[in-house]
Amino acid sequence: MNSRSPSSAKDAPPILNFIGGEFVAAGSGKTFENRSPVDARLLGLVSEAGKAEVDAAVKAARAALAGPWGALEMNERTELLYAVANEINRRFDQFLEAEVADTGKPVSLARHIDIPRGAANFKIFADVVKNVPSEFFQMATPDKKGAINYAIRVPRGVIAVIAPWNLPLLLMTWKVGPALACGNTVVVKPSEETPATATLLGEVMNAVGVPRGVYNVIHGFGPGSAGELLTRHPGIDAVTFTGETRTGAAIMKAVADRVRPVSFELGGKNAGVVFADCDFDAAVEGMGRAVFANCGQVCLGTERVYVERPIFDKFVAALKARAESFKLGRPEDASTGLGPLISPEHRDKVLSYYERARKEGATVITGGGAPKMEGELAKGCWVEPTIWTGLPEDSAVVREEIFGPCCHVRPFDTEEEAVRLANDTQYGLATTLWTTNLARAHRVAAQIEVGICWVNCWFLRDLRTPFGGSKQSGIGREGGVHSLEFYTELRNICVKL
Ligand code: NAD
Repeated sequence: MNSRSPSSAKDAPPILNFIGGEFVAAGSGKTFENRSPVDARLLGLVSEAGKAEVDAAVKAARAALAGPWGALEMNERTELLYAVANEINRRFDQFLEAEVADTGKPVSLARHIDIPRGAANFKIFADVVKNVPSEFFQMATPDKKGAINYAIRVPRGVIAVIAPWNLPLLLMTWKVGPALACGNTVVVKPSEETPATATLLGEVMNAVGVPRGVYNVIHGFGPGSAGELLTRHPGIDAVTFTGETRTGAAIMKAVADRVRPVSFELGGKNAGVVFADCDFDAAVEGMGRAVFANCGQVCLGTERVYVERPIFDKFVAALKARAESFKLGRPEDASTGLGPLISPEHRDKVLSYYERARKEGATVITGGGAPKMEGELAKGCWVEPTIWTGLPEDSAVVREEIFGPCCHVRPFDTEEEAVRLANDTQYGLATTLWTTNLARAHRVAAQIEVGICWVNCWFLRDLRTPFGGSKQSGIGREGGVHSLEFYTELRNICVKL
């Protein structure tokens, strides 16, 4: 990763695919550029996998499944996963540097969230699989001798893992951890925007002795490239995907002919609901994180904020002050609160919504454009933290996922209205609810149509709990034992006594 310094990036060897335990360049010689979103400098070239590399990766994964990986006892497998977690922690700074270079996110954020969770995802699922009970039923039979039925869990096989760029290592290992713990092998397609940490994980796998072919990485894009080649590959037994809802729809079509199972964590347009009886300062702080953390590029983030009318003006003023307190800057600068967006394309998309809000008649409380950055930073993908009020609920800005550091704030008068507004969306990923009324907290939380509803907090995650989205925000639940539903199949065995 040291070769990613600006002066040597062009001449540095490209980031390679990782297939069967070897780092390999695509036979076609095709590469694509990986640029920093902070200042557009070239970080390096990435080898783009074609059909030959995707075939080879799937073949390597299949061979490992039938061979050394499949032959391991569960305890041997889980010991290797603990070793992977420890090795990520040992190379913590290397992962941190790679993740920050690719994403531009503040070092402080990646240090506390991305890399520790990347390691934890291997530990937690190793623990989970060791503690899973099995179903057992005694059954009556006409001859009175009976039968016993029990179910064993078997791995699904070769799992395709398609990952996004917003929390690259964290979200990729959230899938790879349980997949491997359950005895599967994987072919990972990281986002084209963030190829580094998935590749580095290949080094970790080799270093701790995970058999070759268990973990494979192919680089490239989605349609017409490595992503589509992988999801259409006949050797794939299941696809687990995190990303946009419309990409999920494309992947569903790709696997439909072969009727392969999918697990999807998709987009959202999450609501925050703030009652007048909330702990005001805590609600402002929490909503400030929910809207602006990671420059708004968090699937669980809030883009629609509903505030009970008596505190509406005061809340908007406090959230404005919070938005204006963030310093935009280089990730390694300790005072940086917000980094850039991931890419010029994403910046242009977010700015198009900023423009649209203005056209649709929004009141711009703060932000609303691109900031003036100095020197090299002027080439980066920066946008201002932005708050709007005054838009109708059917405006595109209120209905569509923007995935930027922005929100629309609207007042409500009754609990029923708050629930109706929160639920008025095609998405159903997460909500954050702020109230000191315990009965109301339980009552409202149960009515909101989402996979996770936080009360008086945001982004608190116990990895044993179910995680996923309702409506168009996903299919299935992962986390703790729930991940086993996707990464294993139950095989029922009936023994006549
Ligand atoms: P994306 O859908 O554009 O890309 C995700 C991955 O899919 C990338 O690796 C991409 O190359 C690949 N891909 C794209 N088209 C493909 C195709 N046709 N076939 C196979 N692979 C394809 O998403 P993104 O922009 O990387 O991430 C942002 C999105 O992810 C947002 O919508 C966000 O809400 C969502 N997200 C959801 C969760 C969740 O847990 N629900 C978590 C993080 C991000």
